[in-house]
Amino acid sequence: MERRSFLKKAGAGAAAGSIAAPALAQAQPTITWRLASSFPKSLDTIFGAAEVMSKRVAAITGGKFTIRPYAGGEIVPALQVMDAVQAGTVEMGHTASYYYFGKDPTFAFDCAVPFGLNSRQQTAWIEQGGGKQLMREFFKDYGIMNFVGGNTGTQMGGWFRKEVKTVQDLNGLKMRIGGFAGRVMQKLGLVPQQIAGGDIYPALEKGTIDAAEWVGPYDDEKLGFNKVAPYYYSPGWWEAGPQLSFYVGIKEWEKLPKEYQAALEAACYEAHVMMQAEYDARNPAALARLLKAGVKLQSFSKEIMDACYKAANEVMDEEAAKNAKFKKIYEPWKRFRLDENQWFSVAEAPIQNYMIGRRA
Ligand code: CA
Repeated sequence: MERRSFLKKAGAGAAAGSIAAPALAQAQPTITWRLASSFPKSLDTIFGAAEVMSKRVAAITGGKFTIRPYAGGEIVPALQVMDAVQAGTVEMGHTASYYYFGKDPTFAFDCAVPFGLNSRQQTAWIEQGGGKQLMREFFKDYGIMNFVGGNTGTQMGGWFRKEVKTVQDLNGLKMRIGGFAGRVMQKLGLVPQQIAGGDIYPALEKGTIDAAEWVGPYDDEKLGFNKVAPYYYSPGWWEAGPQLSFYVGIKEWEKLPKEYQAALEAACYEAHVMMQAEYDARNPAALARLLKAGVKLQSFSKEIMDACYKAANEVMDEEAAKNAKFKKIYEPWKRFRLDENQWFSVAEAPIQNYMIGRRA
């Protein structure tokens, strides 16, 4: 009896062993995901981030975990990526969280809010300043886990058919600008318009709108706005460092082997770094070409900036007063912004300004 039991155990052990060895070598399942992007392929730096991420995930996992990116509108409407991940229509998305401002303005902290953080500060807040914990708690209600997915750096203030020098000049101006910035500008009499990227040029050309903001020199040049609105304003104070995000359905994330989770997270970081590097490397040459083509580069006047800053604070405070989720993030975020700007004023800004002065 004892011997039989021993043999049985040994047999069982041997059998388990003979299965376990090859199983370890090829233990990982083949998984295929679909990623819905909010962006067209023409925005190669932004759409490209999803490609950078998916190629790296495939490389790390020996081709076992593949994620196929689809451009905005291909399988999901561009501005419904969040809804699609939430519903499980796709496992993953790549989007700008402030697109969902209409559902809850709290989303915007994951991307950009007026007079918010620059690209470096945004990453610092998300990764080391408590931002990730706060945003993930917020996203949990939507069944989504958010990961950093790139940044454009400070955007431009947009293209204007005529000069704007005073706050009065903004009154009645029709501008393609959305979300938070639109609400702020409304306080100053501007009429915000929501227009998809491809429809901006004809609207500016016909004069249906007086101004439009898009991204910055590298992306704006492709759409040719300079031909119909020659005044190019800086800075886009509503997008000091807008962050793109990868969304993963929490249920899908939990089904992934730990190794795939690690691969996906690392690949998101890679895409995040690469996008900012691409914009920083490509914008100068694009701006030089635009200036050569006759673009009139302008800065918003101090009067306009101050009025916008005041209006932005009012809009943010109004939202905090009626939205507990917003307030929970806004308060610590404001303290972080103050600390960051004080620190950046000590070393970053002086060396940057000195070098700009030397034109080196
Ligand atoms: Ca923009």
